[in-house]
Amino acid sequence: MKIIASNFKTNHTRKSASQFIKQVDEFIDKSNIKNDVLIFPSSTSLDCFDIAQNIFIGTQNAYPVSDGSYTGEIGTIHLDEFGIKTILIGHSERRHIIKEPNELIIKKYDFFKARDYKIVYCIGEPLEVKNSGTEAIIEYLFSQLEGIDLSYENLIIAYEPVWAIGTGVVATIDDINEIHSILKQKISAPILYGGSVKVDNIESILKLECVDGVLVGSGSWNVEDFIEMIKIGAKEK
Ligand code: PEP
Repeated sequence: MKIIASNFKTNHTRKSASQFIKQVDEFIDKSNIKNDVLIFPSSTSLDCFDIAQNIFIGTQNAYPVSDGSYTGEIGTIHLDEFGIKTILIGHSERRHIIKEPNELIIKKYDFFKARDYKIVYCIGEPLEVKNSGTEAIIEYLFSQLEGIDLSYENLIIAYEPVWAIGTGVVATIDDINEIHSILKQKISAPILYGGSVKVDNIESILKLECVDGVLVGSGSWNVEDFIEMIKIGAKEK
């Protein structure tokens, strides 16, 4: 059963996010879809949603505290208010654009793991590492996993090559197959692929046995497209 996840990034308002979630829920209910569907709206769109048990609303970010003086951040009291128990950690836009340091990423991982959150932990190599070959890619990816408890039962890994995120460049099926197969030898957690996934390329990616699902940004922001992706995901084992 493939996992289909949508990352809204800095898109959708509170109103449009709630309409999106409602439409996805109605579809899942009507179609009796059992696959896990994860949606990461902006923090301002988090709310208590009356949705199917296999839809998980997650936060794109939070600071590893309950509350305190961390201007601009949210803590677990804000997530608890809406029953949010799913979080995205280590996304490349936070690592590379916001310059979130690895020590903080690891701190977040430990903090939210200790509180039983479902964690989607992102890893991915930049273009210069990709150009150095498979061995360099794997070494880089495992360096991003250092300090992370890979045996955590609520862990989902998202392999998202940095050069494929938001660029329209999707890794080839052979690239995805190769990297996922190697990761799978050492990681028992589900591994999602992310990077310019769209309705017209998702099927071939999900057909790979070593791919347990996808994490989708821009290709998922139109609700009809996201529903189509869920439909395709539901057909794969
Ligand atoms: C993402 O945000 O995790 C992502 C993969 O983005 P996009 O699908 O837009 O490349």
